Amino acid sequence: MVIYEKAPAKINLTLDVLHKRNDGYHEVEMLMTTIDLADRLSFEKLDSNQVVIASENRFVPNDRRNLAYQAATLIKERYNIKEGVRIHLDKKIPVAAGLAGGSSDAAATLRGVSRLFGLQLSQEELQEIGAEIGSDVPFCVMGGTALATGRGEKLTPLPSPPPCWVVLAKPNIGVSTKDVYSKVQFDDMRHPATKAAISALKQQDFKTLCTTLGNVLEPITTSMHPEVLQIKSRMEKTGGDGVLMSGSGPTVFSLVAKEEKADRIYNSLRGFCSEVYAVRMLR
Ligand code: ATP
Repeated sequence: MVIYEKAPAKINLTLDVLHKRNDGYHEVEMLMTTIDLADRLSFEKLDSNQVVIASENRFVPNDRRNLAYQAATLIKERYNIKEGVRIHLDKKIPVAAGLAGGSSDAAATLRGVSRLFGLQLSQEELQEIGAEIGSDVPFCVMGGTALATGRGEKLTPLPSPPPCWVVLAKPNIGVSTKDVYSKVQFDDMRHPATKAAISALKQQDFKTLCTTLGNVLEPITTSMHPEVLQIKSRMEKTGGDGVLMSGSGPTVFSLVAKEEKADRIYNSLRGFCSEVYAVRMLR
């Protein structure tokens, strides 16, 4: 039997860092939403007690550094499963892009392995296991749109943004999330208007939502990689309704209400940037 799971990417509508905690993590406040750009994972039982990861993407590790491997191992240990699993990752989400590809694969693996072995775990249980793997995994288990607080694992579900297009462009550079967070400074930080963004979501007010997008990590990443700013300004000039860098970058996205405009932005970026996507928001 082979079973399949989709692992959608997320974007940050807001990302705020409130303070550094005694345990070394940053206390964050982020509005996150899933988009229709997804990896596809398949799961098959193995007789031998192993977790085998297969992927054609050369940037994706196939050993225990892979978050899908960690998720499968954790769930197997916790529920004392002696059979193994082969996981194939068909990667569509760009790697190390600020789109939580690895975390979403981990979440899809928790769902997939739970189904494969008939564990019937609730979403809360999967979220709790996910938090042991990474701060973004619980959100990826839940999907949709949410306010994430704590180190990102405490979730309040919210209405998804009004239907629109999301154009994404990733410059050909790698950004280390750890490195970006290590450069966070709290003086002069321009915090995003998270409350206003939440009320825009509740009122399904697309225009206000676009004006409230904000990410405190953006100036840090752009100071190291000016190409991120170039993409941002190109998106703004070609008519993006709201433009922001997602996560620690380097992917920049634009929310766009009209399809023709999304096409225009997509086409203007394609000659400039190798990885460009135009997708729908997931509801
Ligand atoms: P984060 O913001 O959590 O660092 P990201 O979206 O910026 O995530 P990912 O695509 O998750 O980036 O990849 C970050 C690193 O994690 C990669 O460099 C890769 O080596 C490693 N990794 C582990 N598992 C996976 C996976 N399943 N898919 C992609 N990368 C993975």
